[in-house]
Amino acid sequence: MSETVSLHGKRPRVIIIGLASCFGCQLQITNMEPHLLELLDQIDLVHWQLASSDPLPEAFDIAVVEGAVTTKEALETLRKVRRRASAVITIGACAATAGIPGMASRDFDDQVESVYGAEVPVAAGSLVRPMAVSAVIPVDWEVRCCPIDPADFMMALQRFLTGSNRLAPTATLCGECKRNERGCFYGRGQLCLGLVTRSGCGARCPNLGRPCNGCAGVSPDANVAAARVLAEEAGVPAQRFDVALQLFNATNEDVCPSGAR
Ligand code: SF4
Ligand code: SF4
Ligand code: SF4
Repeated sequence: MSETVSLHGKRPRVIIIGLASCFGCQLQITNMEPHLLELLDQIDLVHWQLASSDPLPEAFDIAVVEGAVTTKEALETLRKVRRRASAVITIGACAATAGIPGMASRDFDDQVESVYGAEVPVAAGSLVRPMAVSAVIPVDWEVRCCPIDPADFMMALQRFLTGSNRLAPTATLCGECKRNERGCFYGRGQLCLGLVTRSGCGARCPNLGRPCNGCAGVSPDANVAAARVLAEEAGVPAQRFDVALQLFNATNEDVCPSGAR
């Protein structure tokens, strides 16, 4: 499946915007220093929220969106972006799964009150329960993780510049981890969310000696029930497994059901 944006021989006009986020994934783009100029040579960067407070331009081809949806204003922005862009790429866990902002979806009203009191300041916008970008508009490609790997962002852009038939990975992380031959945390009775987390990062954290905390989100191929049983058998209480899952999957009803909140 090729997904190039029709450009009529011109460089694609790209915008980069941030919703509720720490802007860390946008910063990761600036960290591509050795390749940044090459990248800017291939695109026409018409708006970057990190560097400009100008309103969105009227016309662009590719929209890069960081952050979760937490306000009605963000909902409107996203719908506008989707109407104008041929391709929407999200960057980071906040955008893909609602990420850390998504944790506020649990006991949302109580959490808003505990932060703002009885009256939410105007500057905070009209708050809504946090959502992933794909819960609001169709997304063409998601660059996952917290923060993103800049190389993954480059590949995502190339996908729309030159086309690609590579599909997004869906398997769980353990396959990638096994290939690194670093052993498994469960063998030491330690919690690791790689059992149910989407592959694609190369099992970066276990390879560095740290358990996966699930920042790529739960894999569609994951068997969460079986993983909980395995965790228990390895001496990790299933409840700890469930709590850990909330960090990046709080808005995923299949994994973190509201009834369990
Ligand atoms: S995914 Fe992580 S690094 Fe990226 S914006 Fe969200 S919190 Fe920041
Ligand atoms: S350490 Fe984590 S990612 Fe690696 S095999 Fe074990 S559960 Fe899977
Ligand atoms: S190993 Fe897990 S926590 Fe680390 S980057 Fe990959 S998905 Fe994220």
